[in-house]
Parts: sequence; C-alpha cells; structure tokens
Amino acid sequence: MAMNVLFAAFEAAPFIKTGGLGDVAGSLPGALNNKSCNVRVILPKLRQIPESYRSQMETLCVFQVPLGWRSQYCGIQTLKVGKIQYYFVDNEFYFGRDAAYGYGDDPERVAFFSKAILECLQHLPDFFPDIIHVNDWHTALVPVFLHEQYWGMEQYRSIRTIFTIHNLKFQGICGEFALGDILGLHECKNAADQLHWGYDAINFMQGALYYSDFVTTVSPSYAEEICTSAYGEGLDGILSQRRDRLCGILNAIDTAKFSPKKAVVPFSKEDLSGKAACKAQLQAELGLPQKPDTPLLILISRLTSQKGLDLLAGCLSELAGQDMQLAILGTGDDYYQRLLGNYAAAFPDKIAFRCAFDEPLSCRMYAGADILLMPSLFEPCGLSQMIAMAYGTLPVVRETGGLRDSVVPYNMYTGEGTGFGFRNADSRELRDCLMGIFTLYSTAPDVWKQLQTQAMGQDFSWRVSANAYRALYRKVLKR
Ligand code: ADP
Repeated sequence: MAMNVLFAAFEAAPFIKTGGLGDVAGSLPGALNNKSCNVRVILPKLRQIPESYRSQMETLCVFQVPLGWRSQYCGIQTLKVGKIQYYFVDNEFYFGRDAAYGYGDDPERVAFFSKAILECLQHLPDFFPDIIHVNDWHTALVPVFLHEQYWGMEQYRSIRTIFTIHNLKFQGICGEFALGDILGLHECKNAADQLHWGYDAINFMQGALYYSDFVTTVSPSYAEEICTSAYGEGLDGILSQRRDRLCGILNAIDTAKFSPKKAVVPFSKEDLSGKAACKAQLQAELGLPQKPDTPLLILISRLTSQKGLDLLAGCLSELAGQDMQLAILGTGDDYYQRLLGNYAAAFPDKIAFRCAFDEPLSCRMYAGADILLMPSLFEPCGLSQMIAMAYGTLPVVRETGGLRDSVVPYNMYTGEGTGFGFRNADSRELRDCLMGIFTLYSTAPDVWKQLQTQAMGQDFSWRVSANAYRALYRKVLKR
C-alpha cells in the first residue's frame, strides 16, 4: 500500500516563492510522488498567488478552526497542477495581505495555518495522511498540536511527523502569552515546558524539535554544524540530544526549470557556445560594457548578513579596481541595498545592481554569467550555487553547510572541481580567492571550460534525495 504524505509549507513555486523553501516545496513533492508514495501539498492561499491559479481552485470544505479563544473561518480549496494535488487554506484575514511574511501577527497566522492543517483532515473527502512532512517554523506547531490536541482521536494517533529545517535562524519566538492566547495550550504542562524559551517566551521551532518523530535538515554538513553552539542558534543542546533522530538530506533543484537548454540562447555542456551570446545579452540588459573576456560575476540573493554581504563589502573597492564586472540581484536589508546602490552608481561600468525579486531575470543572469558569488556565513543548503553550476556558472562559496556538500573546490593538481571555495568568514580570504580565479579565467580558458563541463555534468535532480526521504518515511512508519 502506498504511503500517504501531506507536505506542508508556507510557500511553494509556482504559486509563490520568496526563497529556497519555495523552490524545494515546489519541486520535491513531484519527485517523491510514485507508486509507493502518494504526496499532496498544503499551502496557505496567499494573496500573491497569481489569479490564473486562484481562479481554477475549487472549494472542498469549509469549517471553523479553534485557535486559543478564537474560532476562525477556514476554507480548503484544491487544485491539481501536473501530478500533484494541492490544498489551499483560505482565510482572507490571515492570508489576504500584501506580503507573505513580516507582520506583527505572523505567529498567529502560522499557528492558524498549522491548526487548519490538522483540522482539515476530518473534512477531506478522500485523503488521510500517514506522514505529515512540515517545513520550517511556519508549520512547526503541527507536531505540537497533533500530540497535545488531536491525539485523543484514534485516527490521528497513527500519523507520524517529519520536521525539516530549511533555516534555523527563523524559529518563531514570541511572548509566553501566546501559549494560551493563540495556541490554547496554557493548561498543558508538556507544551509549556517544551516550548519555553528564555525568560518569558516560547519558541515554535523548539516545539517541533521535541514533538516530531524525525528532524531533517537540508544538507549533511548543516546537520553536523547545527549541533554546535557556533551554528545552533541556541537550539544546539536539543539538536545534539536528538542526534539519533536528525539527519541531513541534500536539496536539489528543478532541473527542467533551471536548464541551459531554456536559456535565451540555449546551450549545453557539449556545446557551450550559446553561453557567450547569453553573456553579451545580459551585459547589454544590465547596462554593462559588452566585453566577452571580462569575468562577469553575479550574486542573486536575499540581502542579509547570512549571505556574507559584509565579506563582499569588505573587498568591493578592490574588486572594482580589477578587470571584472559584478551584477547583483536581490532585496533585503536597507543597509545593503543602499551600499550596493552606491557602489553601482560609483562604478557604472563595473557594477550593476537590481533591487528586485525577479525570477526570469535571475535565470538570464545564471545563464549569462561566469561566476556566482556565495560567501555565506552559514548556509543550510543553498540552491543558487546548484542552479549556477547547472548553467556552467562556477560558484565561489564559503565552505560551510550545503555549499560544502554541493561544490567541489577546484584542485589545481588533479583538475577536479565544480567551483571554488574558501574556508574562513574573512574578506581577505574572499578577495584572495577571487584574485586567483581572475588569473585562472584570463590565463587558462581550457581549465575553465573543463570546470564548467564538470559542474554541468553533476546530477542536481531530486532522484537521490527523494529516495532518501521515502526511505526515511518508511523507517518512521515502522517505529
Ligand atoms: P535562501 O533560501 O536562503 O534565500 P537559497 O539559495 O536556498 O537561499 O535559495 C534562493 C532562491 O531564491 C534561489 O532560487 C534564487 O535564485 C532565488 N532568489 C533569491 N533572490 C532572488 C531575487 N532577488 N530574484 C529572483 N530570485 C531570487
């Protein structure tokens, strides 16, 4: 009999994506779905979902969701895209907003979503999950509610939960009042103990670490790192305690979507010639001089300190003195937006900055660039480096987390490599690494091409990781 898996996330491509979680939730379920695994996906019906999808959704059921002292309207709508059946949790008050995240009542919004996921199982006509696979702090309360508020119902007791950490930085910490006011768990000692955080707060993610049957994160190295105080964001104690129920499974990408065969001028690892045309077009589009032999670096990222922007800022003036071009696409902290805007204004022939979230432009950049910068301070997995490699754009990464697990640094003696790496969170190391890369680029085009071919020859599909998730589901169900 096939396992029924309900995959819950706050965002998923193609409906809405603000980062890596959206990519993963958009591509992993399709890869998991097979004869032995029947996956359905549940998402909030956020206002940002394009009308073309919204207009096709059908309402399956309507009910009230208890949330602390509240009773909130909830509609479940459904839509099949490709082979996947999606459920959308509809509530205008919580999800009809201008942005997906960033509101003072985000804890209440995600608590509602988590509760609605469990509540709807009593109403869905033809699906009951064996596994609920929840992702990040937005759905971290599902295992908590399941054990503390739904366990009394026989059918719920067979459900097992997997919690995947895509980023440990965002945990869902809020005042203790929320335990009763929002979660309705003030009389539950277990929950009070296991969610308790600091002096007078609660932590949703900590709850998931205690209550879920298994915890995964998105790369083996990050799974190791988060058990240390340097990367554990205060949760390393409990993560180490649960080491026997924690593992890392490397993310992958949607190889059909991020494919050089779909570039403006298509190319492949066998015939890279189209990439030069993509580069020329990209330079023109970004207002940079069309110089085929000048290395074109890109950075496509949320603009936050996590992404190593301070390391880049520390050597940006020196880089601007080199024969190179740098194009940045990203939105985020005001400080970095202003800093990059200023550099772009000061060096218009060298640095281009697009302050936007623009997926089509990101694809043109991955296709047309030579080098991707990803000097992250920590990186649970990172997808940009994989997308870049798929396009023969060599990543320069700090060797941490998923970057370490997915990029083979160039070895000048053996010729191995799919990119470049540096060890420490230090601007000078990044600068020195880049200087070496510029020399290699200008003096050894054959080596460069060899590295591009090796990068493009890697398997970035979900095949291996989807197998690992299915094996984990089976293991958890056997327990
Ligand atoms: P994170 O999830 O930490 O933001 P990842 O590297 O895992 O980082 O995933 C980022 C995803 O979001 C990649 O698909 C990347 O191309 C995309 N992305 C990031 N910033 C932008 C942007 N400004 N415009 C378009 N795509 C972006």
